[in-house]
Amino acid sequence: MKAHDGMYIGGQWRPARGPDTIAVVNPADEQVIAHVPAGTADDVDDAVRAAREALPGWAATPPAERAARIAALRDVLVVRADEIAETVTAELGAPLQLSQTVHAGVPIMVAGSYAELAASYSFEEKTGNSTVLLEPVGVVGAITPWNYPLHQVVAKVAPALAAGCTVVLKPAEDTPLTAQLFAEAVDEAGLPAGVFNLVTGLGPVAGQALAAHEDVDLVSFTGSTAVGRQIGATAGGAVKRVALELGGKSANVILPSADLAKAVGVGIANVMSNSGQTCSAWTRMLVHKDQYDEAVALARAAVAKYVPGERIGPLVSAKQQQRVRGYIEKGVAEGARLVAGGPEAPRETGYYVSPTVFADVTPEMTIAQEEIFGPVVSLIKYEDEDDALRIANGTVYGLAGAVWAADAAEAVAFARRMDTGQVDINGGRFNPLAPFGGYKQSGVGRELGPHGLSEYLQTKSLQF
Ligand code: NAP
Ligand code: MG
Repeated sequence: MKAHDGMYIGGQWRPARGPDTIAVVNPADEQVIAHVPAGTADDVDDAVRAAREALPGWAATPPAERAARIAALRDVLVVRADEIAETVTAELGAPLQLSQTVHAGVPIMVAGSYAELAASYSFEEKTGNSTVLLEPVGVVGAITPWNYPLHQVVAKVAPALAAGCTVVLKPAEDTPLTAQLFAEAVDEAGLPAGVFNLVTGLGPVAGQALAAHEDVDLVSFTGSTAVGRQIGATAGGAVKRVALELGGKSANVILPSADLAKAVGVGIANVMSNSGQTCSAWTRMLVHKDQYDEAVALARAAVAKYVPGERIGPLVSAKQQQRVRGYIEKGVAEGARLVAGGPEAPRETGYYVSPTVFADVTPEMTIAQEEIFGPVVSLIKYEDEDDALRIANGTVYGLAGAVWAADAAEAVAFARRMDTGQVDINGGRFNPLAPFGGYKQSGVGRELGPHGLSEYLQTKSLQF
């Protein structure tokens, strides 16, 4: 795999300020595939300075011209889609087909949506005798996780650029090669120097320095709730804007009138995709007591198709593999019944975890409360609709969810009562314009579409 040994700052690849590097590992075979520099506070400082210098020019660039640059960036991503997919497969371990359709395909869609929005969005409004100007917030510090290495980057950088902000990105240490490829694409697309900058490095070093930097105006973070809490506190102390996309423990609510086989099948596919490393995955499947045994049998049959090394890849790292296996052991210890999978690794090499289904899970068990971030689904029995709602809303999270019923109106009535930011009705399709983000401890703010764009704007009112 191709790797840069420098940082992309001010429109060029510059040597890192420190000597340390990060080894990038292919989680499917545990081989080191590349090294990238581990950025220091000095690298972050250089990058923030470059972003600050580029800000006035980019903020003053007409939206149509910003739109044209984002469209050019999208076009480069399209041309380099195969390389993106291969890179994601190499450093994340996702099966190549998933990398092509989702890891490369979705960011292309999102970049395209922001090229259109930048051109069509109304950056000026009138109310009474006032004109309201929607202006870029300024320099954005973006900190992203490894689970969707390019999507998480594009979901922050594209709206920031559309808004007229400049960006410093600190990507996850496990997936820096995709971020370097993205920086190459920015360069090829002809964005002005300093509008986008990349500092690879470790969270507690480079990430922390970026989140705490006094010349960063907005911190946009996606990752764990523990780190998000810390970043929110730092940003609050400095009175700076912050957006947090954190964990989830979403419910897949199957109402008695639903097509049970379809709801279970899609539900299993949803959790197994990307080896369960999706913050919005429906990891709790809620089934009526009269349909429970049938649902368990359907889930067991559905999960059998996910053969490790074929349809399902490894987890990103040994650390994540250990963490997820620990949760499976905990589920067994707390009395849940293993229907498929278990804590034993299914392959000798690679950070694989067996696709796992638990039955007889009760709502207060650890595996029903905490984010596992692996291919593990819990089937929970409910008595009636009110019970289902109590269980669905009974965690600290509120990121996503699903409801299945014979007709959409019945499902929508239930969805209205859910404390969560996104609900898929009878298997609704992904929409790149729909706001994505959490209720409760799943986060603050929204990504994607016009809601995602407004996160990067601040308002000024002129009275006449
Ligand atoms: P994480 O530690 O929160 O990492 C997310 C990003 O924050 C990474 O770029 C990370 O850098 C950086 N970071 C870590 N500590 C930081 C600090 N003190 N200050 C500033 N930035 C910091 O998450 P993770 O270790 O990758 O995964 C742990 C758990 O988080 C997962 O098991 C899952 O539950 C959750 N998660 C949620 C999402 C989501 O989309 N909501 C995505 C990924 C993970 P490093 O890469 O160097 O750690
Ligand atoms: Mg981490």
